[in-house]
Amino acid sequence: MNTTFAYGQVDDTIELIGSRASAYDELVGRFGPLLREKARLGDEFAAEEVAPPAVDPARIAAGVPVLTGQDLSLWTKGFCRSARTLLPLLARAIGMERDVSDRFKQYFGDPKNILGLAQARIEGNWKHFENTSVQLFTQPDIALYVTETVSSPVFNAIAVTMGEPFSRENWGHGHCPVCGSSPSLAMLVPGDTANSEYLVGGGGAKYLHCPLCGHDWRYRRTACAACGNEDGETREILHQDGMKCERIEACHQCGKYMLTIDLREYASPPHPDAIQMGLIHLDVIARQRQLVPVSPTLWNTID
Ligand SMILES: [Zn+2]
Ligand SMILES: [Zn+2]
Repeated sequence: MNTTFAYGQVDDTIELIGSRASAYDELVGRFGPLLREKARLGDEFAAEEVAPPAVDPARIAAGVPVLTGQDLSLWTKGFCRSARTLLPLLARAIGMERDVSDRFKQYFGDPKNILGLAQARIEGNWKHFENTSVQLFTQPDIALYVTETVSSPVFNAIAVTMGEPFSRENWGHGHCPVCGSSPSLAMLVPGDTANSEYLVGGGGAKYLHCPLCGHDWRYRRTACAACGNEDGETREILHQDGMKCERIEACHQCGKYMLTIDLREYASPPHPDAIQMGLIHLDVIARQRQLVPVSPTLWNTID
């Protein structure tokens, strides 16, 4: 499976979050326009069929993600268009000061700068974000969040070009096979009857969702996505009363947790990126238990 941004699904998910608890009203109001526009743009890029990346089966077999070491300049135009469209909405959503947002706008106006940041994100070059944040008089995590948000629709379109057969590859690692990111969410989907995991486990296959490129890949259902631990004694599932479909999978071996949603339990499946804004109450519970998220996101690091 491969999750596209699919505007309609994101829109429905934002409505769902808003309808559930008034505690989320403020976030829905602030981030709704950004999430919707990001989805619309992602759909647009996917429909335009961006250039596909070179895929080397030998590297994949060795566990190296497709985009690691790739020259991203093939997609420069997309990154620039995305930055122009999303930066104003993003600045409003996170309440960026005017002078900071002006500096971001100017910096992202140069294709070389956007490309440098996108490349640094794929290579995990944190130093580049520290240096850039000094230039922009902001914090490195803000520069990272802005980079991830504006590059995400392009990476999503790249993941989509790779197609369905790619997502059925036997990857099995806890990081994204397309872009190398750690997953932000796990999803249980109806099992495939031809698969032994389904027959033994009693239903449902687990997929991990990439917060950057939106790719979903199959993973062992009973394993921790951070350390691979499958020991039932040191893994724990937590959920709120009556809400088993949204839960925390905690691993006491590595101290990390992953939010998991059971797509079989919803009237219509929520979008895996948008729904995370409505699961902050679970992140709070996990943090109270001294657990650390597998992948830090805006939602699970918010105060
Ligand atoms: Zn990815
Ligand atoms: Zn673990």
